[in-house]
Amino acid sequence: MSFDMEPWEADAACVGQDPDVFFTGSDEKAAVAVCASCPVRAECLALALRKGFEFGVFGGYTATQRKTMRRKKGASAYV
Ligand code: SF4
Repeated sequence: MSFDMEPWEADAACVGQDPDVFFTGSDEKAAVAVCASCPVRAECLALALRKGFEFGVFGGYTATQRKTMRRKKGASAYV
């Protein structure tokens, strides 16, 4: 898993937010609500699906939701 910064991350709606909300699953509804207005949501979701991030909320989707997406399409669809 890579945590290198992507160029679009500076525009993310979660910049300055409590990272625990996004990465620990402590409040998935709050994280998803922030993502809903994020201008780089599509890029974020694509990255999370491509990298197979197993935890947290990315692109407005929980880890469980992303796992289902990858299973339905096949992980190779996101490479
Ligand atoms: S979609 Fe959500 S997690 Fe991804 S960059 Fe935007 S606010 Fe952050």
